Amino acid sequence: MQAVPLDRSLPPLIIGGGLSGCEAALQLSARGIASELWEMRPAVMTEAHVSEGLAELVCSNSFKSEDPVRAQGLLKLELDKLGCRLLQIARECRLPGGAALVLDREQFSAKVTNTIEADPLVTLRRERFEDLQAQLATGRLVILATGPLTSDGLWQQLSELLGDGGCYFYDATSPVISTKGINHDVVFSQSRYDKGGGDDYLNCPFEKDEYEAFRAALLAAEVYPINAADKYLLFEGCLPIEELANRGEGTMRHGCLKPKGLVDPRTGRMPYAAVQLRWEDAFQNAMSLVGFQTRLRFGEQDRVFAMIPGLEQVKIMRYGRMHRNSYVEAPKVMLPTLQVREHPNLIITGQLTGLEGYMSAISTGLLAGINASRLLSGNEPQIPPEKSCLGAMMQFMVNPGHKEYRPTAFQYGMLKWLPEKVRRDRKADLIRSEAENAWLEMELLVGR
Ligand SMILES: Cc1cc2nc3c(=O)[nH]c(=O)nc-3n(C[C@H](O)[C@H](O)[C@H](O)COP(=O)(O)OP(=O)(O)OC[C@H]3O[C@@H](n4cnc5c(N)ncnc54)[C@H](O)[C@@H]3O)c2cc1C
Repeated sequence: MQAVPLDRSLPPLIIGGGLSGCEAALQLSARGIASELWEMRPAVMTEAHVSEGLAELVCSNSFKSEDPVRAQGLLKLELDKLGCRLLQIARECRLPGGAALVLDREQFSAKVTNTIEADPLVTLRRERFEDLQAQLATGRLVILATGPLTSDGLWQQLSELLGDGGCYFYDATSPVISTKGINHDVVFSQSRYDKGGGDDYLNCPFEKDEYEAFRAALLAAEVYPINAADKYLLFEGCLPIEELANRGEGTMRHGCLKPKGLVDPRTGRMPYAAVQLRWEDAFQNAMSLVGFQTRLRFGEQDRVFAMIPGLEQVKIMRYGRMHRNSYVEAPKVMLPTLQVREHPNLIITGQLTGLEGYMSAISTGLLAGINASRLLSGNEPQIPPEKSCLGAMMQFMVNPGHKEYRPTAFQYGMLKWLPEKVRRDRKADLIRSEAENAWLEMELLVGR
């Protein structure tokens, strides 16, 4: 299909009412541009979403660190400068979580849904969209924000348009448990290194023999199979717990079960390992097991996770599940403005770009909204400045030098302009002052 000139008289379509699509719609609205936002739920559900709410968080309820020394904290400062709407809403739904921005997922989704529904410039259509090529043929601007679980028909159309089968990986969700039945004689509340409030996390401490038995049970447990034609490709930043167990005796203990910074009040010393539990709701009815994404069969999750000290009697309210996630091979097909090279009226955003995680989805949604508004106003789309976090993400995304383009969240390693030593030592002040110059440049360009 040939690219056609942009018809600025047609309102843009945003496909997918997830994190990225909602941020894009609100950014367009903030610039006085009306859009149509298409969301297929509840008529058609994905394998991971469970509600009809917009911006549903499918797994963890953490937006990661707000500490500006960390890459994710620096990114949040930048998004604040740019007027990110979902980040503002997230802070209104904050739960205790130490330095991390942990949120009540239901409240967040409800607030985003209400904000979109009340916005006179956003028309919400609850329909599945599978008309990509026909819409592009009219010259309409389309923002594709359908995420890693894009419906099959639309994925097929996109693959044909890009002349490429795209990429995939497997990702899993963590179980959520009821707080009833937690044995508080064993489980203790404490934030690691006492960061944040003392009750922000609960910890289930393991003795060495308990940890070894737990690991052995994980390794022997039955798992759900993946598609026969696929390789079992995983996102290294978020590995299933059984995969961590498989990688070695110490892998879990140095990862999500690390006991560092914790002191078990029963023994007065650091436990051998510890599972952390994070609040799921303001009523304290539910908690998630931090870092416990899994593809264990449901019965096996009941059996094996009951071996965690203090959780012997708890019920799993939502089981962990494995999903196949699709994304485009961005270095081949995309521009650093989020436009598709051969079809510049098509903007791809969110996890579909291969940039991983909730914060990447929100960040690219924001840039998609800015660039869509620039294109529709007859301006050139913006490539964010190199020294900004968004700029670094775009450069990473289109870099032709990847051996294999793998899903990646924003990290300091993407700030290529930083001397290696500064990056490694996380010289926050220096990084921040350079980034602030880039933000000034960017604020001028986005016209805020
Ligand atoms: C199982 C799983 C677990 C994850 N866990 C985490 C995690 O713990 N932490 C983290 O940071 N990231 C996680 N991610 C990655 C990623 O951050 C999320 O998927 C995030 O929601 C991506 O945002 P998005 O806007 O790109 O897509 P989504 O938020 O998924 O939104 C896409 C929307 O498009 C809709 N849609 C799809 N096809 C169509 C169509 N044809 N027509 C209309 N609507 C359509 C979907 O219903 C959905 O609402 C996970 C992803 C998956 C799949």
